[in-house]
Amino acid sequence: MPNRKQAELINKHIGCARFVFNLALETKQMAYVGAKVNLTCFALHEQLKDLKKECEWLKEINSQSLQQSITNLDRAYTAFFKGQNAFPKFKSKHRGNQSFNIPQNVLLEDNKLVIPKFKEGIEIILHRPTKGTIRQATISRTPTGKYFVSILCETGEAVKHKANIKENTTVGIDLGIKSFVVASDGKEFDNPKFLRKAQSRLKFVQRKYSKHKGKRTNKRLAILHEKVSNQRKDFLHKVSTELIRENQSIAVETLQVSNMLKNHKLAQSISDAGWSTFVTMLEYKAEWYGKNILKIGTFEPSSKTCSHCGSINKELTLQDREWTCKSCGTLLNRDVNASCNIKSFALKNHSSVERRPKNRGELPTLVGVLIPEAQPSLVVG
Ligand SMILES: [Zn+2]
Repeated sequence: MPNRKQAELINKHIGCARFVFNLALETKQMAYVGAKVNLTCFALHEQLKDLKKECEWLKEINSQSLQQSITNLDRAYTAFFKGQNAFPKFKSKHRGNQSFNIPQNVLLEDNKLVIPKFKEGIEIILHRPTKGTIRQATISRTPTGKYFVSILCETGEAVKHKANIKENTTVGIDLGIKSFVVASDGKEFDNPKFLRKAQSRLKFVQRKYSKHKGKRTNKRLAILHEKVSNQRKDFLHKVSTELIRENQSIAVETLQVSNMLKNHKLAQSISDAGWSTFVTMLEYKAEWYGKNILKIGTFEPSSKTCSHCGSINKELTLQDREWTCKSCGTLLNRDVNASCNIKSFALKNHSSVERRPKNRGELPTLVGVLIPEAQPSLVVG
């Protein structure tokens, strides 16, 4: 639990980390649009010095945390070009993850977290003892104003060798709304009933109080939100762990969120289902256990293609849960068939493309972008 002064400084860190992230994203975009140049992570780190001269208030912030914001943006770009993620988005003050990272100099002393700019230490409640060497930490704030720190340790255990990708140890998964996951081996994971109940209760409360919004209602909603999101996380952890344990490789579709957002109802269900969180869990657990995640782009005819003979059923509608292929006569379950297609498509397409950045000409800089946008009020958490 940080004291008031510390909470204020944490909020400033969160605000500044977001500010630098957004500024770097804008600079990168301008450099690309204007000069067709991909600004490197290093070039942007270099510009931080000038930015600090321009924005005195950044000096209050741990500079490594600001650098890390740029590194995170760079990683988001790399992931995008590898087809692993959607294009990086500007971070919002109100939505999404409110956090900042401390990449170095993290110490734990007598239940206190000691990090740069917080020399006196922030009191914390440790849920588990740490194992190995502490490498870095992330401090986050929930919508209800609770603070959490996650600490990353290195245990010295060798990074696991990745399992070979073989047809018979690979499973394809189809993420759905009716069932949360249907795997190509026929296994299904349904959204638990209590979660569906909690979600509809949340929507009910939201609707009921939408007319008279006040501080108290907002707080109530935030608490309910947090409860539902914790329950959902538990469920996602269970499913992802089971899939990772039982399979050597998992093929999954990259979610083209922009396409899906066109359909508002579907968009709501997607955010309820937590698909992107789920895919992220699969990815890091795959790293832990030496498994493979094979991602494919959204594969339009994954439901309409017969996984036995490859012919396409153009008449298939969303209502058809089962269909018989006219070419080969196989009776197909819609979701299992889709996950079989995702599996075979991923196995065929298993290769990644990396793009190298180029450097030339005069480019926009962080400060250059800043001038029309500069607003010191952005710092306030
Ligand atoms: Zn067929």
